[in-house]
Amino acid sequence: EAAVSKNFIEQEIDKDLAEGVYDTVCTRFPPEPNGYLHIGHAKSILLNHGLAQKYKGTFHLRFDDTNPLKEDMEFVESIKADVEWLGADWKEHLYFASDYFEAMYECAVKLIKKGKAFVCDLSAEEIRQYRGTLTEAGKNSPYRDRSIEENLKLFEEMRRGVYKDGEKVLRAKIDMSSPNINMRDPVIYRVAHLTHHNTGDTWCIYPMYDFAHPIEDAVEKITHSICTLEFEDHRPLYDWVVRECEFSPAPRQIEFAKLYLTNVVTGKRYIKKLVTDGIVDGWDDPRLVSIAALRRRGFTPESLKMFVELCGVSKSNSSVDYAMLEYCIREDLKMKKPRMMAVLDPIKLVIDNYPEGKTEELCVENNLENPELGTRKLLFERELYIEREDFMAEPPKKYFRLFPGNEVRLMHGYFVTCTGYEADDDGTIRVVHCTYDPETKCGSGFTGRKVKGTIHWVPASSCKEAEVRLYENLVDEEKGVYNKEDGSLNLNPNSLQVRRCYVEDSFEEAKAYDSFQFVRNGYFCIDAKDSRKEHLVFNRIVSLKSSFKL
Ligand code: ATP
Ligand code: MG
Ligand code: MG
Repeated sequence: EAAVSKNFIEQEIDKDLAEGVYDTVCTRFPPEPNGYLHIGHAKSILLNHGLAQKYKGTFHLRFDDTNPLKEDMEFVESIKADVEWLGADWKEHLYFASDYFEAMYECAVKLIKKGKAFVCDLSAEEIRQYRGTLTEAGKNSPYRDRSIEENLKLFEEMRRGVYKDGEKVLRAKIDMSSPNINMRDPVIYRVAHLTHHNTGDTWCIYPMYDFAHPIEDAVEKITHSICTLEFEDHRPLYDWVVRECEFSPAPRQIEFAKLYLTNVVTGKRYIKKLVTDGIVDGWDDPRLVSIAALRRRGFTPESLKMFVELCGVSKSNSSVDYAMLEYCIREDLKMKKPRMMAVLDPIKLVIDNYPEGKTEELCVENNLENPELGTRKLLFERELYIEREDFMAEPPKKYFRLFPGNEVRLMHGYFVTCTGYEADDDGTIRVVHCTYDPETKCGSGFTGRKVKGTIHWVPASSCKEAEVRLYENLVDEEKGVYNKEDGSLNLNPNSLQVRRCYVEDSFEEAKAYDSFQFVRNGYFCIDAKDSRKEHLVFNRIVSLKSSFKL
């Protein structure tokens, strides 16, 4: 019955192992070091690492750094940090594709010697014209029949720097009439006088992706090279390169659909503009979905793993709701995190019959559903803060919180009855007054009467002021993500709300990335960039309630 729950990639791997095509499984994650990783990459990382784990195989982290123009080595460290944080341990298997430049050159020479590659003098534009279209076959290059000796000599000269950028390329000799345009004598090496971060000025020719990638996989003895759907049409070329370069066993490319989130901006170009325009606070702004941003928002590796598993692997592109990501983090944190009290929009509550100067130390369970999280101490006193929305001078029907004459429970404390309030001229409530009933102390076994509302609070004298950041989608979902006129983003003006709030005085040990439930208000995480011991800053990861259903 296990076979039924296996995804299509696992089924293919099972088949390959059963048929003896491979006797072990080796996967890789091959990022180009040209940007920050996002949630889609997390899917690829966890998928590849998960397969290696399941089949007791090996997982490689390989930087695909064969394009000297696009790379920025600052990203190597951030990518390593993200992959490590996700728990995808590459052990000693960290590789750089640029270390294989010599091996790739040797492969190209081998192809020339077999009559399978030729040096071509057509310009890029001419190559495009000769290539044909979907409905029209291509034309052979006039240089296609150069002798092997001439090709070897010219290719060696390309390497030696005899030619300028664009003057000559090396092309695979396959089939200009193939229905698959990728097979119409694709360019596999180009001249580019560029300095490479790793190899410096050693090379002035660089391999094209479709030639380099299969060789990288083959050199590392990758068995299953898992990539996204847009490479499906490139697979015949991948197989051609592996076969003609005579690698054995041959790595096998398997494609799956990219992960897209509905109404979420992932395009590098857009995010770059949001950063430059100062609309977000860097690539790790908690409203973004880079791995660094998700981490800063308070997502955990476990929640992302759960998310990726729920999404499954598929062969058809579709888009997933952000609410599913929220579901996963709630599920992950529910039993693991203490439930603290924080008042986000405070008004003062004065218990007029509670003795002035008296304090009681309440012993409070950290998580009622998980006793293992222990207890903490909480001070109860005459003056507290409660949420502004937990009091109404003139309540509507079915409002069970505080209003003149009504009795509610103060969570972990006593029953209190509202006796009055003070308001400004404009009606803004300043202070709410109440009395308490000493009989009703929480845990006293009091059963005399029931109340319909329970509200949370913090003690006025010993609470801590803090900042909370409440998030909504960066873009306006009603209007649609992109502006129809100019293609810009329809931004949501409320995507970040900053509140000054009061929290319990129980965050002495709290450090960056720690997360908590704030009862009734959601899950929050200590912001890694801006939070200080004297001024705590919390990001709301997610609210508590959702209409999301699995
Ligand atoms: P670019 O090519 O512009 O850098 P990229 O996102 O394709 O963008 P890569 O560094 O090539 O960047 O990606 C590394 C790996 O992550 C690839 O194997 C790719 O297939 C995979 N990947 C990228 N985006 C997604 C996605 N949205 N869902 C799943 N896998 C993805
Ligand atoms: Mg790419
Ligand atoms: Mg990339």
